[in-house]
Amino acid sequence: MPLTVKTRRKRGTRIVVTVLSGLLPILLGFFILYWQAERALSQSTQLTAEEAIRQFELMLDNTAQAARELLPLAGQSCNNVKLALREQVTRRPFVRSTNLVWADNLYCSSLFGDYQEKVNAGDYTQGKLWLMNGNPVTPNTALLVYRLSEGQQGALTTLDGYHLSNVLRLIGRKTVLLLQVGPDWLSADGKVHEGALPTLPVADSKMMSSRYAFTVAAGFPEGETWRYMSSEYPPLFSLLIFFGAVSGLIGHVLQKRSSSPSHELQRALEAAEFVPYFQPVVHGTNKKWSGTEVLMRWNHPKEGLVRPDLFIPFAEHSGLIVPMTRSLMQQTAQLLAPVSNSFEEPFHIGINITASHCKDLELVKDCREFLGAFAPGSIHLVLELTERELIEPTAITLQLFEQLHALGVMIAIDDFGTGHSSLGYLRQFNVDFLKIDQSFVAMIGADALSRHILDSIIELSAKLDLGIVAEGVETEEQSAYLTAHGVNFLQGYLFGRPMPGADFIDALSHH
Ligand code: C2E
Ligand code: CA
Ligand code: CA
Repeated sequence: MPLTVKTRRKRGTRIVVTVLSGLLPILLGFFILYWQAERALSQSTQLTAEEAIRQFELMLDNTAQAARELLPLAGQSCNNVKLALREQVTRRPFVRSTNLVWADNLYCSSLFGDYQEKVNAGDYTQGKLWLMNGNPVTPNTALLVYRLSEGQQGALTTLDGYHLSNVLRLIGRKTVLLLQVGPDWLSADGKVHEGALPTLPVADSKMMSSRYAFTVAAGFPEGETWRYMSSEYPPLFSLLIFFGAVSGLIGHVLQKRSSSPSHELQRALEAAEFVPYFQPVVHGTNKKWSGTEVLMRWNHPKEGLVRPDLFIPFAEHSGLIVPMTRSLMQQTAQLLAPVSNSFEEPFHIGINITASHCKDLELVKDCREFLGAFAPGSIHLVLELTERELIEPTAITLQLFEQLHALGVMIAIDDFGTGHSSLGYLRQFNVDFLKIDQSFVAMIGADALSRHILDSIIELSAKLDLGIVAEGVETEEQSAYLTAHGVNFLQGYLFGRPMPGADFIDALSHH
């Protein structure tokens, strides 16, 4: 079947489209999952940062409470107060050391008792917190100092970095957590770094404490989104692949459907595979060639010559019949115009058209071009309209037929006797010829009823003053009968089969 043949180019595009329709939902679903994973991770880092802030605030509350209790003692001699200092260290879980200050001078420490060290308020963020990288007793061990002062009195309490880094490590097991105080920050390994907090590669989230001067950063290391997806989403991935396969399959099936007849016809049209064949029409009386009917053939690269009834219905359905007929008319004009000045009387050229040609006025243009190719007055262009498919008498069709008549184009009703055309219809469209369907001709000498119908058609056309053409004349008997009954024109295998243009021109020159 010619309409199922596929070209290689088409197969290539079809594979590409199938793959794309399968990949597209997978990719789209993948991006949505990626975005979803990023959202989930950033929600998780925010929660972790909040939790860390809560923990640090609790520790600092503990440390600040110690400082508050010691502050009134500042100014008293160290000997009197050092026990009170040590008591705070013992009683409070997070406090590592306590110190008293008088006039910016640290003069008493829970560890050493009497002591002398200058205190610079500028070292403390907002005058309150200082993240130190150790002190003379424990160098390179992080330490967070809390400072409280009132007039000359001051108290410094310290929080061991060990507790801080424990929180950083334990709260966000998979999360990277950092604590920043002023210009320094602490990482989970207990190390103090200088400078601004780094931006964490995935789901970076920074949060400030509303009560103390510190910030917490939470995030994930590089590649965490992929790791998260591969651990959380495997069932969704399977679902995505399933959807991709279904969508690819649907794409494939839809294309198969759409790559059906109309695409193949379009390709054939572009490859100029539709060619005209010519069948002579002869005078009833002298059997001289009076014209030809142009019959379309599909010169298929694989199937050979294809009969029109196998593809014309598809061409009508897809609307391609219009450009296909235009091409047929152009080829006909090219072949016959050069011999047109040898015609002794106007040569009838019959072209088959369908109702879909009559939807607009384009046919007028095609006919004008066709007629313009021939020597003036050398031909009659006859448009054959089958009776099985009647044309609606709308404003546009009436205008079309009016313009066609003005051009001198003639109208024939094809397959007459098989449809339901009325007298009104024949008049409305200014019909010039009736073509008696070959089924009636075939019954000559065989069936009395058909012959009766045939006689009525002949009679009717004589009354209406219409030309009459009998199709499918195969025997001398049929020919004699039709001529005796006044049929003007005969067409059939008896006088000539449909033939290629070159053969037709050759045969024409012998007539
Ligand atoms: P049709 O318009 O009725 O054309 C006459 C058909 O009868 C042609 O068949 C022709 O080959 C065939 N025929 C002619 N003489 C004899 C005979 O003595 N005996 C027998 N048995 N058959 C004979 P074909 O060429 O196969 O075309 C079939 C139909 O396809 C045409 O019927 C026409 O309806 C359609 N067709 C052909 N070419 C075109 C075209 O260019 N456009 C349109 N719209 N339809 C076309
Ligand atoms: Ca015809
Ligand atoms: Ca016919």
